[in-house]
Amino acid sequence: MTKLLYEQDAYIKNFEAKVLSCDEAEGGYAVVLDQSAFFPEGGGQKGDVGRIGDATVSDTQLVGDTVVHSVDKPLEVGSKVEAAIDWEIRFERMQNHSAEHIICGIAWSLFGCNNVGFHMGESFMTVDLDGKLSKEELSRVELEANRAVYRNLPIVSIYPTKEEAESLQYRSKKAIDEGLRLVKIGDVDCCACCAPHVAQTGEIGVIKVIDFCPHKNGVRIQLIAGRDAFSDYVALNERNKAVMKLLSAPREGVPSAVEALLDTIARLNGEKQAIARELAICKLNPTVKEKNAFAFCDNCSFEDLRHCSNKLISDGIDHCLLFSQSGDNEYIYVVNSAKGEARAVVKALNDALGGKGGGKDNYAQGKVCGTRSEVEALAESLI
Ligand SMILES: [Zn+2]
Repeated sequence: MTKLLYEQDAYIKNFEAKVLSCDEAEGGYAVVLDQSAFFPEGGGQKGDVGRIGDATVSDTQLVGDTVVHSVDKPLEVGSKVEAAIDWEIRFERMQNHSAEHIICGIAWSLFGCNNVGFHMGESFMTVDLDGKLSKEELSRVELEANRAVYRNLPIVSIYPTKEEAESLQYRSKKAIDEGLRLVKIGDVDCCACCAPHVAQTGEIGVIKVIDFCPHKNGVRIQLIAGRDAFSDYVALNERNKAVMKLLSAPREGVPSAVEALLDTIARLNGEKQAIARELAICKLNPTVKEKNAFAFCDNCSFEDLRHCSNKLISDGIDHCLLFSQSGDNEYIYVVNSAKGEARAVVKALNDALGGKGGGKDNYAQGKVCGTRSEVEALAESLI
């Protein structure tokens, strides 16, 4: 059984140990020491990384009651080694993990929600609660969590006996018969946990819920804290500054500047569409027989074609048939008939060119398949 130094003191960064075993393992070697400050993966927190001697530790796992370090080089069994955990990574994980306890403790005391899932990802943690908390309720949990940070509360580990545990109120995902370790955060939370935590809540820094969504019968929260939250703020601020510069907007004015920009784009698109229709009318060169006409237009939508056909009808044409290519050997069309014969034309188009379309007596639209000359020949025969 490895002596667990991180349980005695979560702040041990360097330590000496004796190599008890070193076996070849997948991708390197599995090393067991007589004592270790490396935290093995557990409780939602990843295993520590760092170095033992001149070997790099890429992961730490608990196998039974033995801490197994995954290293890239063999170590001499029986030798004394110097070891160092990667403190930057470990401290960030401690900040995040302690923040998670505070959030869950407050969600439980304020709203009776249980923590039913926890994952520490690369860029944020996810915490699953079994209550459907609203945005406002989550904001309150977040605010109270940050207040707990300002109060700089002590975080201690306690090891109650079974009898003592019965009289204690604490959160736990499962029943624990022996070896219960509770992490107590001032008057804010008490929870069964095997992981190292910061000593005072003030060390956590900012606790921020960055997003949430419904999950099963509750909510899934995305959470960051500590140095991760600071880095996130720095990145957000830089992005906001870049957008402010692009929009010439003040710091708080980015959303309204984007809204104004979207309004402008919508207005310009409307104007562009109107100009395109006017242009289609200008370029309209119909084949006219008596008071019937057909024409091919470029890059027109149904609405554009309808607009052009209305123009022809207002110019005194009785029936008009307008096409625009919509794909390989595929044309959309509109039929505009002042005499109410549009449906008859559609039927003829559908029958001859496998078209699909329909509408009313004075106006109809659809699609036909065929080459330009096939469509043109049919149109000529119809007018
Ligand atoms: Zn925990």
